[in-house]
Amino acid sequence: MDKDYEKMIRNKKADIYSYEPEPHYDIDNSKIFVVVRKRPLSRKEISNGEIDCISCLNPKVTVHECKIKIDGITKYLEDHEFYFDNTFNENETTEEIYDYTIGPMINLVLKKGIVTCFAYGQTGSGKTYTMKGIENLAIESLFQEIKKTNKKFEFYISFFEIYGGRLYDLLNNKNKLQVFDDSKGVTQIFGLQEYLAETPEDMRLIIDKANSVRTTHNTVTNETSSISHAICSIIIKEKGSKDFGKLSLVDLAGSERAQETQSNNRTRRADGAAFHQDWGSTERTGWQAWQDSGIIE
Ligand code: ADP
Repeated sequence: MDKDYEKMIRNKKADIYSYEPEPHYDIDNSKIFVVVRKRPLSRKEISNGEIDCISCLNPKVTVHECKIKIDGITKYLEDHEFYFDNTFNENETTEEIYDYTIGPMINLVLKKGIVTCFAYGQTGSGKTYTMKGIENLAIESLFQEIKKTNKKFEFYISFFEIYGGRLYDLLNNKNKLQVFDDSKGVTQIFGLQEYLAETPEDMRLIIDKANSVRTTHNTVTNETSSISHAICSIIIKEKGSKDFGKLSLVDLAGSERAQETQSNNRTRRADGAAFHQDWGSTERTGWQAWQDSGIIE
């Protein structure tokens, strides 16, 4: 990395971080909420001499772009500022992100609300890292919240991936799934398995299993990267009721542009573009069925 730019970026950051960040904004009744998480540089990036050119002071992200004036020698930085509902820097934890995103939505899901969280970003930007953390925290608080009610709830999980425009059930040997619209125009996924989870451990086990069989591929940007969209849905039903709440956590495939994924072919690039949603209701099975399908030993 060029020493002049490094110094300019260091000074810029010192200036930006001399201000107090705004307190994080509560999600309230917003229908759509967009937050950004900045991850720290990896060990590999540091050893390659890369420097961090992003400043993140809630609710703003500043990208410091290194430029050269028309004279061909004078270096300068061009700052690009972006504002979001909330931003989180590399020192902030997944717990803090959860508290300002999914955390406040848990009660809504228990009251039959439908909540979806998408992780969007380039390969290696930290989507899976963040989503796995959020999945674990959501499981914890779902089970804690139901204890506070005197109602009996049941949790079902489905987990599928969309790869090359096709759907595969990550909890059923990656069986190919069919999507169609029913007579009411609602998209249904035929054959998608839903597993009953009776404890937080059950849920974690199912989700870990599904994450471990996701389709990955080596790219130039990351050694193994997720090249599919992964859709984890937790369905919450009050016992004896037909209605349900649903929390879907969607870990999207890398958003990078084609030239940044030299090892990727056309089909893989199409993964970033084709995205179908799962709003369907499907087969329900239990612990025994997980064992039968090899999800648990
Ligand atoms: P993506 O899913 O966007 O391709 P990953 O979640 O796999 O990216 O993250 C890439 C690498 O960066 C992983 O090794 C992960 O452990 C690490 N990483 C991502 N976000 C963070 C973070 N906030 N703090 C520390 N390490 C992180």
